[in-house]
Amino acid sequence: MPRSEPATSTAIGQAPDRSDTIPAISMQGVMKRYGEVTAVDGLDLDVPTGACLGLLGPNGAGKSTTMRMLTAQSIADAGRISVLGYEVPRASKQARASMGVVPQEDNLDIELTARQNLAVFARLYRVPARERRAAIERALAVAQLDGRADTATQNLSGGMRRRLLIARALVHRPRLVLLDEPTVGLDPQVRQELWSLIAGLRADGVTVLMSTHYIEEAERLADDVAIMSRGRVIARDTPTRLLDTHAGRTAAEYYGPPRRLAEVTALACAAGFTTRPTGPSVSVLRAENLPPGLDEQLGVGVRRPATLEDVFVALTGDRIE
Ligand code: ADP
Repeated sequence: MPRSEPATSTAIGQAPDRSDTIPAISMQGVMKRYGEVTAVDGLDLDVPTGACLGLLGPNGAGKSTTMRMLTAQSIADAGRISVLGYEVPRASKQARASMGVVPQEDNLDIELTARQNLAVFARLYRVPARERRAAIERALAVAQLDGRADTATQNLSGGMRRRLLIARALVHRPRLVLLDEPTVGLDPQVRQELWSLIAGLRADGVTVLMSTHYIEEAERLADDVAIMSRGRVIARDTPTRLLDTHAGRTAAEYYGPPRRLAEVTALACAAGFTTRPTGPSVSVLRAENLPPGLDEQLGVGVRRPATLEDVFVALTGDRIE
């Protein structure tokens, strides 16, 4: 990307390409209420240029509302938002011109072919006429839909449609892509395909903000994960450091009747360990630090790597998935 001098003004209409010095996204003290519900509650969030940030949290944490405010589909009640150097909502039109947005809902035109869907967006995003054909072919190739370009969208599989939705957001070569729960409801194989596509964007230096409630998605794709709960970011770091700080390397899972689970919990907690229910079992976090005596007392436990779900539970007491 060509380097430019830092711009000195953010007036509407100017193009403050200060991509090296300012974050691609900056949100400070952002609030959004719907009646009695506070969806976003004093959110501070920066996404550096070129990073992939995963916004991880359970349903209702405020992820989608956060995404909608970045595109000015929803207007914050308080706080400051800037996207690619533009104040939002004041200069949201300019910000949108360099952003790609992949919505949670599939809103493709099902009667049009894949290529036609892309052509509509290429025009909408003012890709110059002489570049449009190449832009569309490139987007089709990124989404591996070259072979299905002339298929009506209604005849594409769910996974292909999801890829088309992403391709559509890329047709104007955005510098920033927002993905709202990109793989929700998809089967594991399709999810893997989309993960490769998103990893490719990141490798190309595109800034990515992705909301998800899938732990694995955040762990695999994001440079940094911001964990959201009740409208706020409660922890933010690389997945590895979040694990180190809040959950350790290994968890030990103990199975058995409720009395045994209660016993394990009591023994581990008395020794200062964090525990959490995991379905029919109870997990003791930081099991790598269990002293041999306590380890023996707890009995047979199944060791597994710690996850960001453990981090979330350790921080909030709630679950993500
Ligand atoms: P997430 O994307 O993390 O699931 P949302 O941002 O969708 O969370 O929702 C956060 C909270 O705001 C929830 O309690 C939700 O019910 C509420 N909310 C979101 N959008 C609206 C709306 N348009 N009207 C009323 N309440 C809303």
